[in-house]
Amino acid sequence: MKDLSILESVFDVVRIVNPKENIEMESNSKGQLYSLPYCNCFEVWKNGKVCENCISLKAIESKSTQVKFEVVSGRRYMVIAAPLNKNDGDYVIEMIMDITDNDLINDLQQLSGFNYYDVIENLSKVVVTDELTGVHNKRYIEEVLPYKLKQLEYNSNTIGLILIDIDYFKRINDTFGHVIGDEILKEVAGILSHEIRGKNDWIARYGGEEFLIFLSDMTESTFTKVCERMRKKIEGASVILDGQSISVTISLGCLLIDSSKSMEMKRVLTYVDDLLYKSKELGRNCVTLETIVD
Ligand code: GH3
Ligand code: MG
Ligand code: MG
Repeated sequence: MKDLSILESVFDVVRIVNPKENIEMESNSKGQLYSLPYCNCFEVWKNGKVCENCISLKAIESKSTQVKFEVVSGRRYMVIAAPLNKNDGDYVIEMIMDITDNDLINDLQQLSGFNYYDVIENLSKVVVTDELTGVHNKRYIEEVLPYKLKQLEYNSNTIGLILIDIDYFKRINDTFGHVIGDEILKEVAGILSHEIRGKNDWIARYGGEEFLIFLSDMTESTFTKVCERMRKKIEGASVILDGQSISVTISLGCLLIDSSKSMEMKRVLTYVDDLLYKSKELGRNCVTLETIVD
């Protein structure tokens, strides 16, 4: 593993990354590995945040090679992450290739008049976006949440998960029709998105009229405030649709996870779902919050 000159002749960057997202080693121009000072693997993309579609952890977990495409500052990259078992644990060998000027794709483009890069870029977004509301979709949750929960093992980060369900939404549809129901869903998604400010925080549509929110770097008091503020914002908002003023309320199941152990997504989702159910039982338009510490 000391000489990566073969790989280096094909790829622009070859590096070994540990699951804490630190680059352990990177190849130099001679294709030899050298140790790096502390450096996050996502820094190569210069967007200052953890990759939403991290394939390195996925490669370790699935024990299989993963491939993705990234578009950064107008250039296109292909990233391959292959699991690598060293004596002291699991690592990933990441190979990055700038494919912006790739002849094959450019030839195809000229022949067909089709912009494949735009297709790649759009597809990457479309597959994780909810068409109606524009927030992330369930697929995004399934891709990102297990990884965030796994990271608890490595980062001392307290995270908050909120499952939100619109109260008596069936009644809205029955009274005003599905088209207006859809407009309300968009409004609710917009208001909630506005309340999410952290660069690693996100909102996704979990189901019909349910949303899941992920917040990082939380404390119990901030989390309590944020949840209550979301409830109040929705309660206080009204939309004029077809000349009618319509407002809705939401119920929230809120789970603060202050743990240094990795957690199963299924367990966590069942937990927030139970908390949401409690809010419904308590009469709706309220917050039920619990903390897991271990
Ligand atoms: P509860 O307070 O118990 O949550 O009552 P509810 O009426 O909101 O609950 P229920 O689960 O019975 O109804 C959810 C409704 O959401 C039923 C379905 O028609 C509606 N719905 C789900 N997806 C969509 C959608 O994409 N658009 C519209 N307009 N309605 C949707
Ligand atoms: Mg529901
Ligand atoms: Mg509902």
